[in-house]
Amino acid sequence: MSLSLPLHSPLPLSSHPPIFTLFTLPPINLRRHHHHHHHHRYLTTTTTRGSVIQYNTTQQQPLLQVNDLKAKIVENGVEILHGVNLTVNQGEVHAIMGKNGSGKSTFAKVLVGHPDYEVTGGSVMFKGENLLEMEPEGRSLAGLFMSFQSPVAIPGVSNDEFLVMAYNARRRKLGLPELGPLECFSYLMEKLQLVNMKPDFLNRNVNEGFSGGERKRNEILQLAVLGADLAILDEIDSGLDVDALRDVANAVNKILTPKNSLLMITHYRRLLNLLKPTHVHVMEKGKIARTGDISLVAVIEDVGYETVPALT
Ligand code: ADP
Ligand code: MG
Repeated sequence: MSLSLPLHSPLPLSSHPPIFTLFTLPPINLRRHHHHHHHHRYLTTTTTRGSVIQYNTTQQQPLLQVNDLKAKIVENGVEILHGVNLTVNQGEVHAIMGKNGSGKSTFAKVLVGHPDYEVTGGSVMFKGENLLEMEPEGRSLAGLFMSFQSPVAIPGVSNDEFLVMAYNARRRKLGLPELGPLECFSYLMEKLQLVNMKPDFLNRNVNEGFSGGERKRNEILQLAVLGADLAILDEIDSGLDVDALRDVANAVNKILTPKNSLLMITHYRRLLNLLKPTHVHVMEKGKIARTGDISLVAVIEDVGYETVPALT
């Protein structure tokens, strides 16, 4: 692994579109501690001024609350999302299924602030804040991560440079000291092991010449390094053989904790069996048309999307 990194002169992230599309930042709740009192869970948050806020997590707000979200394609003005409703709480694993072209990827990209789309109605609250008012970088900083269906390559930037840059940018925003080369090395090694990847992965340019499966693994490595309160994985299973799919699913399972949540877009029962969603949704013509538990997957496989009975 090369560690001649531009640690103190990072690439201009915000002015570099390809990096924007991959650049995500982990949560800012590093100083939270869990306390267990009888049947209630309490979270305490130590603020920057040192005061402690305590609140009962059983009454906590949803992590993500999407209300009647409408969005159009900027280029041609066509409305794709016609009123999406979705609530994701801490620790939940949601799957969105649905026919090709139903708006699943559009929904995910609108959540992270992709510039191809414009929100025309509705609201999105993330951790109690208006997500739609935040810049894409701010959404990342707030703890939203997205893996794209077709991750882009970043020529000339090696994976370790990219990861260290993104991770240190996040630490700077949090007011934490940047990690030096040796600390970075051990941090990245720990995460590589977690997701079961070879160290030579780090020396290659981001996604350049990667196979489909390697790109997907690389996305999961990014998620492991950066962390997230809500990770959105768009067809992380596409193009993966059975073994690669199992590895990727195992890696995602290791990253998941009771405190973070997952929103995955997928067609594949195999992935759903490995990641065990708590909620399964069907998107249809730019809306979430049906919601159920994992048993909905078997119904869809039997009768197809068209005739799935509403289970909401
Ligand atoms: P899904 O992920 O469910 O297959 P998408 O969200 O990718 O569906 O696409 C929904 C519809 O919006 C499709 O008809 C697609 O062609 C169109 N669409 C999405 N993004 C764009 C874009 N940037 N430019 C033009 N059409 C788009
Ligand atoms: Mg898609």
